[in-house]
Amino acid sequence: MSQKKFANSHPHHHPHHHSCSFCLLNRIWRRKFLLLSIVLIFLIITITITNSRLNVFSSLFSPSYKFQYNQQQHQRQHLAASNKDNGDTFNNNNDDKMNLRNHQHLKADNYMSNSYNNDNDNIRRQSVVYIHPPGDEQQNKAYIPKNRFIHLDLKGAPPKVEYLQQLFPLLRQAGANGILLEYEDTFPYAGELLRHAVADNAYSLSEIEDIKRLAKENGLEIIPLVQTLGHLEFFLKLEHYRHLREMDEFPQAICPSRNDTYELLTNMIDQMLIAHPDSKWLHIGCDEVYQIGICDRCKHKERDELFLNHVKRIATYIKEKYNVTSIIWDDMLRQFSPDFVKSYDLDKIGVEIMIWTYVDDIYRFIPTQNWMFYAETFPKIWGASAFKGAFGETLTVPNIKMHLDNNIAWLKALDEQESSFKEIRGLVITGWQRYDHLATLCELLPSGLPSLVIDLLTATNGKYESKLLEKFHQLMNCPHQLDYTYNTMGARLFTQYPTFSHLINCDFPGSKVFRLMQEFENINKRVDDYLYDVTKHKAWLTDYNFRHNITSPWRIREGLQDYANVMYGLKSLVKMAITALGEIYDEYTVYEWIEEKLYPQLLRMEKFYNQTIKIQELRVWPRRPIKPAVDLQRFIDKINKEE
Ligand SMILES: [Zn+2]
Repeated sequence: MSQKKFANSHPHHHPHHHSCSFCLLNRIWRRKFLLLSIVLIFLIITITITNSRLNVFSSLFSPSYKFQYNQQQHQRQHLAASNKDNGDTFNNNNDDKMNLRNHQHLKADNYMSNSYNNDNDNIRRQSVVYIHPPGDEQQNKAYIPKNRFIHLDLKGAPPKVEYLQQLFPLLRQAGANGILLEYEDTFPYAGELLRHAVADNAYSLSEIEDIKRLAKENGLEIIPLVQTLGHLEFFLKLEHYRHLREMDEFPQAICPSRNDTYELLTNMIDQMLIAHPDSKWLHIGCDEVYQIGICDRCKHKERDELFLNHVKRIATYIKEKYNVTSIIWDDMLRQFSPDFVKSYDLDKIGVEIMIWTYVDDIYRFIPTQNWMFYAETFPKIWGASAFKGAFGETLTVPNIKMHLDNNIAWLKALDEQESSFKEIRGLVITGWQRYDHLATLCELLPSGLPSLVIDLLTATNGKYESKLLEKFHQLMNCPHQLDYTYNTMGARLFTQYPTFSHLINCDFPGSKVFRLMQEFENINKRVDDYLYDVTKHKAWLTDYNFRHNITSPWRIREGLQDYANVMYGLKSLVKMAITALGEIYDEYTVYEWIEEKLYPQLLRMEKFYNQTIKIQELRVWPRRPIKPAVDLQRFIDKINKEE
């Protein structure tokens, strides 16, 4: 601030008094030697920060900092939860279990819902990412996984085959050579044992033939996935299969000590492998089995024993009958004794593990001792990263940077671990549709596509480099070159890469849905802001006003001024959702999304409007004091009693 400006900003005009601190300060300020010292000190501080702390400093102000910080917090919670997670202490550790469950496959949800979902800048923060290109600096060596598979989680919202027809060529062009296909309730299981488990909107067998053909045409090998121990909510939730639950309260895990369990599972496997006769692998799930060793038949056995016996039995069946190799998720093994796991000789029946983590610090979840244990026990492994469905249960668009960081970290880890294993099969980039079968939808496949494509390009290139953006831009069919703005901040480059506003102009399969998500964030915020303004911020249309029929008629009119506009936006969004989602999903999924995201806002708007109609008719208003709501007394009595 200049002296002149400072003087001009003096709050009052008067001759200088000694008692006026403002004037005193002004006089001091005028002393040149002091000014020079201040400038010098400032310069020294600036140079110090620029040289040594720049990255820390700038990252503090970048959106990703908050994510990373929260992520670490979350991971700590997870670790704490897993440590407590031994023995059948389920009832005592309910909170920890819940924590762990929420966490799985969906890494870092708490902070997303707490700090982000309500954030005004939600979309902007999720999508504007500042990528410091690690490919150009940190990771010089490329590691290209042999198999680069995309996980298609179809549970409870199967995309139309026509959409997959557009999607598969894009996956091929971005370097994918396979798909991990998780049908869950969208596979048309037949027969008395399984037909009850099938969703009404499951694929038909002929649609599955189409999917297989399209995959083949695009050089995509299919690995089907059939859960065989945990995450069997899709049928265990039904009365028909209730008796198979390990714990009646939780329709998540099946009891591995019943013969009818095996009858049902082998029937499922048979149908899946008959539909996929060319598959070399079958993924049999086995992740996140929280209820194990609990039922009367199982409670006298050890959890690790129950788990490993089950895996061995299922994998042996698959090997002997179909000569197909089983893959399991690795997370349950992390808690078991390595020697005990080794004693099961799962490698002799070819069992491969798929090691998954969706964070950017692979070794935090899979520490070196786990890698050593895996290397001694499983000669062939897979890695699994994520492109969506990992950082917030109700997100609309994935955070591209966080997912890219995770994929980059995986390439580095696989490179480091390669010499320890006979073979690293490849990397599967997962994309979860729901956090589990009983949850609502997370990011839809089309809105996760930009994230998927950049992750895939990175894996195919073996490392991230800014040159990939050009290819990305071309594949996403964007109308003009993305503006690669490099901000030179000290020694490092920060790339502003791809922002939401860039991508909404691109034309990729499902880009209408991507645009819908941005429109949703805008309109949703507009509704929230409007209702907040009229019912909370202003004092004439609050719940209290409605309850006691006291308001200013003039203010009602004022409050309703924007109503029609906001409502119009919301209604247009419903139309837009029907069109955009309808191109990709059946009406069940279209309506599920609308009901979940837009219907609550429609209801809130309607309720507000109806209340104003009622209160508008008033021509007389109550005399003060106004009696408190009768119902309030109920709470006060209850609170008093509790004391
Ligand atoms: Zn049991």
